[in-house]
Amino acid sequence: MKLRLATPGPTEVPQRLLLAGAREIIHHRSTEMAGLLHEINEGLPPLFGTEHPVYTIAASGTGAMEASVANCFSPGDEVLVVSNGYFGERFEAICTDYGLTVHTVRSDWGTSADPAQVAAAYAEHPAIRGVFTVYSETSTGALNDVEAIARIFRDTDVIVVVDAISGLLVHPLPMDAWGLDVVLAASHKGFMLPPGLAFVALSDKAWTAVERGSGPAYYWSFERLRHFYPMSSSSPAVSLLLALHESLKMLNEEGLPAFQRRHAALGEAAGRALTALGFQPFIQEPHRRSHVITSALAPEGIDTGELLKTLSTRHGVTMTGGQAHLKGKLIRVGHVGAADPLDLCALFGAVEMALLELGHRFTPGTGTGEIIRALADFPHEES
Ligand SMILES: *Cc1c(COP(=O)(O)O)cnc(C)c1O
Repeated sequence: MKLRLATPGPTEVPQRLLLAGAREIIHHRSTEMAGLLHEINEGLPPLFGTEHPVYTIAASGTGAMEASVANCFSPGDEVLVVSNGYFGERFEAICTDYGLTVHTVRSDWGTSADPAQVAAAYAEHPAIRGVFTVYSETSTGALNDVEAIARIFRDTDVIVVVDAISGLLVHPLPMDAWGLDVVLAASHKGFMLPPGLAFVALSDKAWTAVERGSGPAYYWSFERLRHFYPMSSSSPAVSLLLALHESLKMLNEEGLPAFQRRHAALGEAAGRALTALGFQPFIQEPHRRSHVITSALAPEGIDTGELLKTLSTRHGVTMTGGQAHLKGKLIRVGHVGAADPLDLCALFGAVEMALLELGHRFTPGTGTGEIIRALADFPHEES
């Protein structure tokens, strides 16, 4: 059975990237590695919309989240976490573990953070040193207005830390223009790579915070990363760097605007197909829907746990459901990275077959037909 990953990370890895990583290991202090890192270090900042270096670490995305807390703050510092999903809660947990005093601006899962509420929380807690926010909240599919959130802190010493782990590449994120101070990303989302690399970009304001931060960090130390840059601070994930080099080439060949249009088209088509099948889009406001995944609540009588199980055991398709209180109710169709229109047709073909197998009655082709119509309607070029 052919296996298909339709999860919001890890994503399917194109064969071209798998092969790029499948070669002999080169030493991390060799001239060949210096050349490879030079090209990677040149290639990453434009994707983050920054003039600053982007540091690559061997870690999953959570490693970069933890490193941002460990480096930029000291125990007892007050911070604000903007939380509207599972990854916002992860920031709260990490900050609490590091002894920070955490204030949370909470919004319901499925909604986006309200910048006005963030401004109000800042007025109430003017001593905060940092604000944490998630760009694309992968647990629900909500896209947060990090530009508006960052604007509140523009002329202050408060640093804005953005988990852009799934949102980077898929949605525009010009770090310098928006005044973001710490931007985090990872290899197994838009970069289409296996998990194992995380990326961190820091503004000058963030470096000031790092220099005063007293949290213990060695492997995770940003100062150590800067000290060794452009080389790596310790043995890097060589095979993943080889693949990353190729991923940057692929991203450049397609170009970010086309990459983003493709994801917008897939998101629109997936949303329309799920609606046609009787699902209800989980994110109400269309412009706040992340194009990383499409999330929807199942119609009455369908347990998404059963649906996901049928999809994986009978059709080789891995999708994800809801977490916490959304377990059994939500479905999240991942279409980030290399996913294309035909992949989406296959995924919805599988969804329809699984729904029929579970006894749901509808006209076959209801969802896939909508995919084909939606993609035909979608503008191909930027007008
Ligand atoms: C994937 C993801 C992470 C990181 O998860 P890891 O499993 O540690 O890589 C963090 N935040 C968001 C928004 C994500 O999508």
